[in-house]
Amino acid sequence: MVKYKNWLFAIFVISFGAVKCFDINIGLLYESNNAQIEKVFHKAIELANTALMEEAHPLVGRTAEISFGNSYDSSRKLCKMLRGGVAAIFGPGTTASSTHAMSICDAKEVPYIDTRWDAETKLPTINIHPHPANIILAIRDLVNSYEWKGFTILYESGPYLPALDELLQMYGKNSHTITVRRYDLHLQGNYRNILRKIKRGHDRKIVIIGSIETLPDLLQQIQQVGLMNERFQYIIANLDLHTIDLEPYQYSESNITGIRLFDPNDFRVKLLSEHLSQAEEEGEETPPEEPEVGVEVEEALGEGAEEEKPNEENNHGGKTDITIQMALIYDGVHLLAETLRHVGSLELFEPINLNCHDSSTWETGFTLVNFMKSTTFQGITGEIKFDHQGLRTDFVMDIIELTAAGIVKTGQWSSDVGLHIERQPQKFVLENGGRKFANKTFRVITAITPPYGMLKETSQKLTGNDQYEGFGIELIHELSLMLGFNYTFLIQEDKVYGSYNKETKQWSGMIKEIIEGRADLAITDLTMTSDREMGVDFTMPFMNLGISILYRKPIKEPPELFSFMSPFSKEVWLYLGGAYLSVSLSLFILGRLSPAEWDNPYPCIEEPTVLENQFSFSNALWFTIGALLQQGSEIAPKAPSTRTVASIWWFFTLIMVSSYTANLAAFLTVESLSSPINSAEDLANGAGGVKYGAKKDGSTYNFFKDAKYETYQRMHEYMENHPELLPSSNDEGVAKAENENYAFLMESTSIEYTIERKCNLTQVGGLLDEKGYGIAMIKNSPYRNELSQAILNLQEQGKLSKMKTKWWKEKRGGGACSQKAQSDSAAELGMANLGGVYFVLIVGSVLASVYGVIEWIYIIFRRSRAYSVPFKEELMDELKFVLKCSGNTKEVKHRKSSSTGSRNSSMTLESMELDNSEKTNLHKGKETKNDA
Ligand code: GLU
Repeated sequence: MVKYKNWLFAIFVISFGAVKCFDINIGLLYESNNAQIEKVFHKAIELANTALMEEAHPLVGRTAEISFGNSYDSSRKLCKMLRGGVAAIFGPGTTASSTHAMSICDAKEVPYIDTRWDAETKLPTINIHPHPANIILAIRDLVNSYEWKGFTILYESGPYLPALDELLQMYGKNSHTITVRRYDLHLQGNYRNILRKIKRGHDRKIVIIGSIETLPDLLQQIQQVGLMNERFQYIIANLDLHTIDLEPYQYSESNITGIRLFDPNDFRVKLLSEHLSQAEEEGEETPPEEPEVGVEVEEALGEGAEEEKPNEENNHGGKTDITIQMALIYDGVHLLAETLRHVGSLELFEPINLNCHDSSTWETGFTLVNFMKSTTFQGITGEIKFDHQGLRTDFVMDIIELTAAGIVKTGQWSSDVGLHIERQPQKFVLENGGRKFANKTFRVITAITPPYGMLKETSQKLTGNDQYEGFGIELIHELSLMLGFNYTFLIQEDKVYGSYNKETKQWSGMIKEIIEGRADLAITDLTMTSDREMGVDFTMPFMNLGISILYRKPIKEPPELFSFMSPFSKEVWLYLGGAYLSVSLSLFILGRLSPAEWDNPYPCIEEPTVLENQFSFSNALWFTIGALLQQGSEIAPKAPSTRTVASIWWFFTLIMVSSYTANLAAFLTVESLSSPINSAEDLANGAGGVKYGAKKDGSTYNFFKDAKYETYQRMHEYMENHPELLPSSNDEGVAKAENENYAFLMESTSIEYTIERKCNLTQVGGLLDEKGYGIAMIKNSPYRNELSQAILNLQEQGKLSKMKTKWWKEKRGGGACSQKAQSDSAAELGMANLGGVYFVLIVGSVLASVYGVIEWIYIIFRRSRAYSVPFKEELMDELKFVLKCSGNTKEVKHRKSSSTGSRNSSMTLESMELDNSEKTNLHKGKETKNDA
C-alpha cells in the first residue's frame, strides 16, 4: 500500500512539477582508521553518475571523518551534514559510532544506509549487509556438511554475540558438543591463553566469529600457539577473510574455510582496487567535490566486464583489498542511483536543510527508503534485493578455502537453496611438484608388541630408530623410501592402543597421542574400528585378521590297550569269528562226506576194519586258525571239496591279513586329541572350567563389549566380572594361556605368530569376525591417500607377504614348532602302542599253563584212583620227574597185562586208559611216548 502511494506521488510530480537542476548530496561518515572508504565512496558516486544519473541531478558525495568509536563526534558531524541537506547518509562501520547517527537520521526521516554486521537492524534503516542470522545459517550448513560432531566456537563479543546465540540455538542442547570461548578487545590483543586452552582440549574443529580487525592477530597467535597445522580445521564467519594476508597460513596444512559475498575477480572490484592503489601512489588527497563525468570511466565500466575474465592468475591467491564495507558502499550508492533513476522526477527528492535541534524532518525521506527497498539491482555483492522485513534476500555467498595456492572457491551458499559444495575441500595443493612428503618428519608411535615392534637383540648400545625392529618398523621404513619422508619412533610404554571412554569423553593410549598432536602416525597391531575412526583416520589395512582363541594344545591320549584291534571294526571282527567257525564247520562236514578224507589208520593192515578221518571238529578248527594266522598246520585236505574250501579260506585270509597289516601301523600310532573347548560357545558355557579373557581395552575386548550376539554378550559379562583375567598386553595373555587353564581371545595374526614359537599352544576354532590393521593418523590428514596408495603398492608387489613370512616364520625363533612336528612324525612305537599284543601273549600263555597244570593234576588224580595209589605220592613222583628238567623219556609206572594184544603193542597204558576216542585221532606217526 505504501509503495503504491509512493509511485502515485511520483507520477503526480512528474506530471505537474517544474524541472530544475540541483545536486543530490549524499553523506558518508567514516572512521579515521578507515580512510580508504572515502575514496571508494567517491569512486562509486563517480561511476553511478556516469551510468545511472541524469546530468542535471548528479550525486555529490559529502564526507566526514569521525574518530573511531566516538558517537559524539559522529552525531556532531552528521548534524553538520544535515544542515547542508543530504538525500541519504552512509553510516560508519562501528556500532558505537553508528547507533547515534542512525537515531538522528530516523528522527529527521533521512535515509540511513548501513553496511555493518548488525543483528538488530531497525527499520526504516536500510542495511545492505546480509543479516547475521543468514550468515550463521551458512556456517551451520558448512559444519553439517563437514560432519563435525563437536567443535569450539571462538567468538568476539559485541555485535557477534547474537550470532553466537543464534548458532547455539540451532544446535539445541544435546546434538553436538560445542565449547564456546570468547576472545575480546579486553584481552588487548593477547589471545594466547584462550588458544592454549583449546590446545589442551580435544576439539580440533573451530568456528571463529569475530571482526576483521582482530582476525589477523588471532590467526597469528593461533599459529604461534601451535594450532595451525594439519590437525586443525577452521570455519571463519567473517566476510572480509579474503582481505587479510593469509599467506603465512597457506602452507600450514590446516583447513581454513571461509565465506565471501563477492568475487575479487569482479571487474568492478578490480576497478575500485586499482583506484585505491593509484590514489595511494599519487598521494591523492581529497577527491574533487564535483564528479568528473567522462567517457573513459564509462568505457572502463563497459569493457572491463569482457576484458577481466576471472582466472587463477588474476586472482592473486583470491585476495583483494576491497572490504565488504567498501563493496556494500559501492552497491549502496548504485542502489540509490538506480532508485532515483526510476522515480522519474527528482524534484521531490531534493534534499532540504535540516537542523538537529528542531523538529524539522525531510518528508520524502522515508518514501525514498521505501523506494530503495523495492528496487533490485545487480551489485558487486550480487543481487541487491530486500524481503518484506527490509532484510537482504536472495543473496549468494561463496564458500572459500585457503590452500597452498591461495584462496580457492569450493562452493556457494544461497539464502534460498542453501549450501552447494562444488568440490570437496582441497586439503592440500601439492607444493614442490607434488612432493608433499619432502622434508617431512613423522613422529611414529608404536608399542613393543612382537612382531610389530621389538627391541633389537644386541649387545651394542643403540639409540633412536636403530633400537627397534619388526614388521611395523619395516613397513614404515618401506613407506618412507617410497614417499620420501623421515620418521622418528616413539614408544607407547603402557601398550594401550586407545579407546574412547563415553563417560569421561576422553581418548586413551596411542589414539590420544595422535589426537593431541604428540604423534603423527601410529603403527602396531592397531585394529581399525568404527570407534577409532571417529577420532583418527586410518590408511588402507596392511593386514587382515579376525578374533580367535589361543589355548593349550589338546592333550594326546595314549593309544588304547587293544589298539591292534583298531584296523578292523567290531563288525569285521565278529564276522571274521563267524567265518572262522563256519569254515571250520564246513571242513568238518565236507571232510566227513568226502570218501577221500577217510584213510586207513594202519597202513600195514591192507584190509582195515576201520577208517579214520583227519577232519575231526578240533582238527578242522586247528587247520582254519593255522591258515588265518599264516602258520599252516600239518593237516592237508585231500578231497576236492575240502581243498576248495581250504583254498577259498586261504584267499580270504590273505586279503584280510594284508588289509590288517596295512592298517595296523597307522592305528598303533594314533593318539586321539582331547580338548575341553572347541569354540567360543564352549568357553561361554564354561566347558572344562576354562577361564578366558582378552587384552584389556583392546579391540577384541571391545568387540565383545559391543556385541549383539547373546553368546558374546555372556562372554563380555564374564570378562567384565573377572578383570584379573584381562592382561594388559598380548605377551601377558600368552603367558597365562601357557601356564594356566586359560584361553586368550586374541587376533588371528598374533595367534599365528605365537603358535609358531610356543608349541604347546594352538588356535581353537575359527574366526569370530573380520577386520584389519591400519596406520592411524589425525583426522583429515593430507597424507592418508598417499600412504594408503603406497601400502597397496607394497601389497601388489608381494612385499607385505614377504615381510610377514620373515617376521612370522623366520626371525626370532619362527618355525620352531613346525620343525618339532617333523621330528615327531618319525617317532618309534612304544609299549603304549604295543602293550595290547603283550597282554594277549601273557594271557594266552597263562591260560595255556593253567589248563596244562589242571589237566596234569586231573590225570594224576585219575591214575591214582585207577591204580589205587595215594594221590599225593603219585603227584610227588610226577612233580619230581617234571622238576628234573631233563630226559625225553619217561618210565611207564603202572602197566596192565598186554591183553589188548595185537592191536598196538607200543601204545601206552595211560593213553588207552584215558581216552580211547582221543587216541583214534592221534596221528599214527606222532606217538612219542613209546614203551621203553
Ligand atoms: N589389535 C588390538 C587393538 O588394536 C589389540 C589386541 C586385541 O585386542 O586383541 O586394540
